[in-house]
Amino acid sequence: MKNSVVKIDNLVKRYGDLTALDHLSLDIAEGEVFGLLGPNGSGKTTTINCLLSLLTYDKGDIELFGKKMSPTAYNIKKEIGVIMQNVAVFDELTVYENIDYFCGLYINDKAQRKQYVDEAVKFVGLEEFLKSRPKKLSGGLLRRLNIACGIAHKPKLIILDEPTVAVDPQSRNKILEGIEQLNREGATVIYTSHYMEEVEQICTRIAIMDKGKKIAEGTKDELKRMIRNTETMNIEIIDLPDEVRSKISVLPHVYNTEYDGSKLTVYCSGGKHNLTRVLGVLQEHELGFGRVYSELPTLNDVFLEITGKALRDKED
Ligand code: ADP
Ligand code: MG
Repeated sequence: MKNSVVKIDNLVKRYGDLTALDHLSLDIAEGEVFGLLGPNGSGKTTTINCLLSLLTYDKGDIELFGKKMSPTAYNIKKEIGVIMQNVAVFDELTVYENIDYFCGLYINDKAQRKQYVDEAVKFVGLEEFLKSRPKKLSGGLLRRLNIACGIAHKPKLIILDEPTVAVDPQSRNKILEGIEQLNREGATVIYTSHYMEEVEQICTRIAIMDKGKKIAEGTKDELKRMIRNTETMNIEIIDLPDEVRSKISVLPHVYNTEYDGSKLTVYCSGGKHNLTRVLGVLQEHELGFGRVYSELPTLNDVFLEITGKALRDKED
């Protein structure tokens, strides 16, 4: 059994009439990159704030590193690095001074601090911006500074709350690679996001949240095995007659179809040769079609099957 890093038991948090966390339990072990995946408002940030004792809660128990967490548990807090959803750095300080300040909260020895700060700068790739003030940085670089401030003291547990929102692709990749590297070097990571692709890419285990509840948990493969979808086919086709769509709907393994006037989507559950059979029906009716592509299940399909709604809006 791996050591427990986070143990949340039956956590309930209310804001007035709203139940933001509804009997949430989580167990996170040393060495994991644990993903909290859920749409906006599902309770991810509230979970993190309760975990850090920044918020009081109505019910439940929280242990970190096997010890009860409390607002004054400083020996626990120094082992944690937090990168909050809203960037929190000092505008009056330069990039270097910001990282040095946050590192200095934990590391007193000057020589060691300098080494740690230099390592953090290199880690996020901000060498060329040491003397810049935060206001001069792009969104992506600012995020990287925020991360450097959170990890410079080499915490055992690193918590990142939506660190890639409003970040350019280059910084985003750098952030995701960085998280994997920190994990390889021994840190346990909690990563919250509403981007399923990122969570799939870097997380060893994932809890899917909706309305303050954990609706599913497992590795990405375990989560995908929980649902009936095994394949989604997309076929570009104009003027598909209803009778043809009906024929496709009753093919073996097909459990749903959607048609928007230019694209037919066919949802399948198990089986082989599904695509051949679907295209066979179209050919039988001498219907031409454009691009055809098949998709394996995503975490969005998991969310969709469990909650009946998409994980995120299309424009997101
Ligand atoms: P997420 O981080 O997943 O987007 P949050 O934890 O921020 O979700 O929010 C969970 C729910 O609690 C949302 O419905 C949100 O509107 C509500 N909420 C969050 N913070 C407060 C607050 N300070 N006062 C009242 N309601 C809040
Ligand atoms: Mg949030």
